[in-house]
Amino acid sequence: MPSVTGRAVEVPAVGGDFQVVQREFPEPGPGHVRIRVQACGVCHSDSITKFGVFPFITYPRVPGHEVAGIVDAVGADVPMFKPGQRVGLGWHGGHCNYCIPCRRGDFILCENQLISGVHFDGGYADYVVAPANALAFIPDGLSAVEAGPLLCAGITTFNSLRNSGARPGDTVAILGIGGLGHLAVQYAAKSGYRTIAIARGQDKAPLAQQMGAHIYIDSTKQDPAAELQKLGGAVVILSTLTSADALTQAVDGLAQGGKLIITGVPEKPLELNAVPLILGRRTVMGWPSGTGMDSEDTLNFSALTGIKPMTEVYPLEKAAEGFDRMMSGKARFRAVLTTGA
Ligand SMILES: [Zn+2]
Ligand SMILES: [Zn+2]
Repeated sequence: MPSVTGRAVEVPAVGGDFQVVQREFPEPGPGHVRIRVQACGVCHSDSITKFGVFPFITYPRVPGHEVAGIVDAVGADVPMFKPGQRVGLGWHGGHCNYCIPCRRGDFILCENQLISGVHFDGGYADYVVAPANALAFIPDGLSAVEAGPLLCAGITTFNSLRNSGARPGDTVAILGIGGLGHLAVQYAAKSGYRTIAIARGQDKAPLAQQMGAHIYIDSTKQDPAAELQKLGGAVVILSTLTSADALTQAVDGLAQGGKLIITGVPEKPLELNAVPLILGRRTVMGWPSGTGMDSEDTLNFSALTGIKPMTEVYPLEKAAEGFDRMMSGKARFRAVLTTGA
């Protein structure tokens, strides 16, 4: 298994312009797999690498944590994977197996967790070398372009909803219809929840219904919290928004015992009134993504129920264009890079 040559889209330094370079991708070491990348979704969290949000990132670094491809080479001590298999790599880029959360089997909380495209080079490239314990098998029913966005935007919403305690028939509201939100609405509806989509503007109503929403609330015309209370309150509100004020107001839409789950980072700290939290035993919590196995569950559920992301496809060399499109908020709804493989 010699090294191979291919393209990579590097961030050369904090805030630097993307550069398409030729690179050597080494044969994978023990516990690692080399993936021939077919597609990689462009996530808002790729801006962490682009702009050096985490101070420990070393450069040059290749972003990308919605990677779908084919196993190309396998290192020692990897019993599960073989060349030719279709696999995905998400935000969770491997865990240590020896910290306390890992010893308790809670790998997503690993204290030494690696993040794909942050700690090691990610999927804006022809190849990725990644820890085998981070990978998921991709089912036949999904193309690489479809699978990519499900490995961060998909898993984050599916995994938070399925662990939220909501049961079929419960009222679940999704705040925002964007990269995460358009998938969250589909997962909520296919999971059997009474699904309420909340977004800005009446023009998103037909799309929300197409994604399976039972009710649409236009937050520019209606007060979402008041509308939710008219419907009995939401057992779960899943927020994909970055507006701290919208999040704060959403708490008032929760049912007694309800839960607000935050998956998007607000632009400023939240100001919360504790009284409705205390008296109504309500919860505000965050949710990260999930492990490789959670990714696989997400992909399998999506294939089973026909859930797909809406994508805009860019060739790898146009990564900068795809990234700018994502940052503009105008992508409908996920920009995906393809390598042609
Ligand atoms: Zn992401
Ligand atoms: Zn660990």
